[in-house]
Amino acid sequence: MPGRMKQTADLRARQAGDRLHRFHGGLSLPHHKAVSCGVPLERAPLPGELFIPLLQQSGREAEPTVNAGDTVLKGETIGRFRHLGRGCVHAPTSGTVTGVVPHPISHASGEEGRCVVLRPDGRDQWKDLQPIGDWQQTDPEALRERIRNSGIVGLGGAMFPTGFKLQEARRRGIHTLILNGSECEPYISCDETLMREQPDSIVLGARILQRAVGAKPTIIAIEDQMGAARNALETAIKRAGDSTVRVVRVIPVYPEGGEKQLIRVLTGLEVPSGGRPSDLGLLCQNVATATAVARAVTEGKPLVERIVTVTGPGVRCPRNLLAAIGTPISVLVEQCGGYTPDAARLVLGGPMMGFPLGSDANPVTKAANCVLVLTAKELRDNRPEMPCIRCGDCARACPAQLLPQQLHRFVRADAWDDAGDAGLADCIECGCCDLVCPSHIPLANWFRYGKSRLRERALDRHRADQARQRFEAREARQERIRLERKQRIATKKAALHDDAAKKAQIAEAVERARKKQEHTP
Ligand code: SF4
Ligand code: SF4
Repeated sequence: MPGRMKQTADLRARQAGDRLHRFHGGLSLPHHKAVSCGVPLERAPLPGELFIPLLQQSGREAEPTVNAGDTVLKGETIGRFRHLGRGCVHAPTSGTVTGVVPHPISHASGEEGRCVVLRPDGRDQWKDLQPIGDWQQTDPEALRERIRNSGIVGLGGAMFPTGFKLQEARRRGIHTLILNGSECEPYISCDETLMREQPDSIVLGARILQRAVGAKPTIIAIEDQMGAARNALETAIKRAGDSTVRVVRVIPVYPEGGEKQLIRVLTGLEVPSGGRPSDLGLLCQNVATATAVARAVTEGKPLVERIVTVTGPGVRCPRNLLAAIGTPISVLVEQCGGYTPDAARLVLGGPMMGFPLGSDANPVTKAANCVLVLTAKELRDNRPEMPCIRCGDCARACPAQLLPQQLHRFVRADAWDDAGDAGLADCIECGCCDLVCPSHIPLANWFRYGKSRLRERALDRHRADQARQRFEAREARQERIRLERKQRIATKKAALHDDAAKKAQIAEAVERARKKQEHTP
């Protein structure tokens, strides 16, 4: 970016929230939140067995650090990652490990993953906790280290490790922190419930995050209609006496809760394709992540539970539940009065970005913000798919400014280079194009599949590059060995030649001396 443009962008990023902007596309959707949000938060009971997935952050599974028969206390490490900051998985309660087994893990792939099976002992006894009392005087590096070791990931659904993100943010330089509370997908109300019921933890988490990355000020972005949450947060900010934290209300348009869309709304700036908010000096965190940070630092408690919205027309008493990670979803539905007779589908997440679950034996994960139970009336996949009529509605609705009809053609034809060039990787899988398509083409599903193929291709390319580099390094090593050997032989030959020359010289000298003696009278 040329210097002058960069300066303007920097200024606008620093004025985030002063003026609101619009992003391209998006949809105004019915909220369906009041039904779950109107009931106070409840704690879900501990089940007879917890299935704690080892895939608890984006990327690969953690390696288990416990075996069958081990007893653990609540908050003790039971798995450790070897990538993205090397975070941990912790025991959500005290009890006995009965095994590490393959189990369905509530993942979009529908595949199984390894889970630590923990039988609670009923005491729910924490390990020895070590709170950081005076966090305002603590070295920011120590705060980031605590967050990294507390198993905190982005609780908005991405499960990107927060400790790693903060480390990168610090390295790249951040001036403004944005806490995302604009929970825009219909039915999901876990963040709104959190903002209403635990606003002080959110504000405390914001202040700790500010110190951890060296950023001020902080914006807590919430939707316009979240009146109770706004009052609660503003009161908490007053109580904390911190004028660097403020609440900004945004107009509810789906998918405003997407990181890039929210930044566009608050600053009018676009995060560049393939770029990150830190390119603009911004760091985005979910409000629930801020609460987890506050607990980890001031109470010493790692992330072992989360709020889950259990809702939809297929469940009797929708509400928000605080559930231990690893709790089977059946336990949550039971707590909400069970299924209605016409319940037809279980979805993890919202109706736009969620994915169907094969069974309610799947456990709660750190990404599980919502369990949605739909009836046959709400299902869209029984509508017959028809050919594209090129109406362009999908492009008008796309918040990433893509051309979904064209992308769809490329993905269907396995034209991966074309799909990549057309911006498939920028698709945020929001489902807006799906919803407006008069031909009922499941576009977002195609794009999910296409993106996974692009990732595989990138991985294959990476592996091929590594193999080529290894081959070239081996060739270079062998060439070097060949040259060194040649050099050694040449040196030896030269030395031998020198020896022979010396011997000849000596022989000549001896001969000269002998002849001289003979001619001496
Ligand atoms: S799913 Fe992707 S292509 Fe479709 S509207 Fe959303 S961002 Fe655009
Ligand atoms: S909305 Fe559907 S029918 Fe219209 S252009 Fe897009 S893919 Fe084609």
